[in-house]
Amino acid sequence: MPEKEDIAPHVEELARVLGEKVGRDVTKEELEEQLLKFLDYGVPIDQAKRTLARHYGVNIPQGETASRPIGSRTLLSDVRDGDSKLNLLVRVISVNPKEITVKGEKKTIFYGFLGDESASTGFTAWKDFELEKGDVVRIGNAYARGWQEKIDISLGDYTRIMKVDPSELPRHPAAMNACKVSGLSAGLSGVELATRILSVEGREVTARGEQKTVFSGIMGDETGKVRFTAWHDFGIKEGDVVRISGAYVKDWRGVPQLVFDENSTLEKLDGDALPEADILDEGNVTTLAQLVERKGATDVVVNATLIEVRPGSGLVFRCPECNRVLQKGTCRLHDKVTGTPDLRIKAVLDDGEENISAVFGREITEALLGKSMAECMEEARESMDYEVVESELKARLVGEPMRVRGNAINDDYGVMLLAQEAKRLTVDIISEADKLAQEMI
Ligand SMILES: [Zn+2]
Repeated sequence: MPEKEDIAPHVEELARVLGEKVGRDVTKEELEEQLLKFLDYGVPIDQAKRTLARHYGVNIPQGETASRPIGSRTLLSDVRDGDSKLNLLVRVISVNPKEITVKGEKKTIFYGFLGDESASTGFTAWKDFELEKGDVVRIGNAYARGWQEKIDISLGDYTRIMKVDPSELPRHPAAMNACKVSGLSAGLSGVELATRILSVEGREVTARGEQKTVFSGIMGDETGKVRFTAWHDFGIKEGDVVRISGAYVKDWRGVPQLVFDENSTLEKLDGDALPEADILDEGNVTTLAQLVERKGATDVVVNATLIEVRPGSGLVFRCPECNRVLQKGTCRLHDKVTGTPDLRIKAVLDDGEENISAVFGREITEALLGKSMAECMEEARESMDYEVVESELKARLVGEPMRVRGNAINDDYGVMLLAQEAKRLTVDIISEADKLAQEMI
């Protein structure tokens, strides 16, 4: 009869395979006891483990345990960059051949998408495993690589693949995350969405030592706009309405960005599947709470009250070298310099539910003040006080409801709106009323 020490690793493996059933359906002590009983009857250890696992509803295929320890299955959502010896149970969502040249030799590799009940992930097969779309397969000894902040499952020479009955994986595995633009936040993968391309341009980059063209631009639907980058030439043009599957979202300078590549699929839809570009281009009115939830957004409109003009607003001087705002004529990096004047407002906006900070640049500040920067400089000189402009901004703007349009960026300090347009709503209402009154006369 085997000693307790000998059996401990097998009990551990079995426990890993059974996952959360241990502690709920069976204890480790019971597993050990049952395993020992099998061994007493002369049942080989691998068969004993398989039989016991099946008893608790988990199927370990023949051959899986004979030559190597049982590895517990990893869900795609748990796969991390650098993981190796991965055991997966997945459905092949798509598979495509690709010719590559390795050391001067032509070779066909395969790429596409795998899905399970937790997620979908791109894969690269470095040899022909005869995978077909729709196959459900058990994969042993795969590894994962990170690429563009996304995980790719690699199937190489040491990977074992076994086709199994499709019923082994739940019927609707890895449905892509059907999204609207407003639902995109960094970290999301397996994204499917229909959008209109509002702008697109290509640029040359070197990726993995290979020269290629990437395409970036803005796309949108009726809920919002998002910057995108395509690492593959799908032939998209401005105005196209497309459905993209297998995209992911990463943070790009504090704003969520949709990324897709050759592992993604892109389907052109009828032009009337979404509103026209000029309608989508108007900018989407968004609550501040939504901006915080989305962790930033591209080209949004908010209606909120300016509740605070923060210190550092008004007339400031910037370092001519690095553009940083000087403190008492001194740059943090370049010491005493002759600054270049600028106007800005650092504000807090509040819509009653949430508040965020916002920055207004020179043009907007001039418009809100109703005076030019030169006039502000003149005023500051006359009063011998550069802070006079900040005081004036406070007096004029605090408490004002505003409509602000811009990009919302997210960082450690929260969401900040970089204003591209700002209008005082009260002024508008008054001038609208004037216009209306004049029309009536
Ligand atoms: Zn500087």
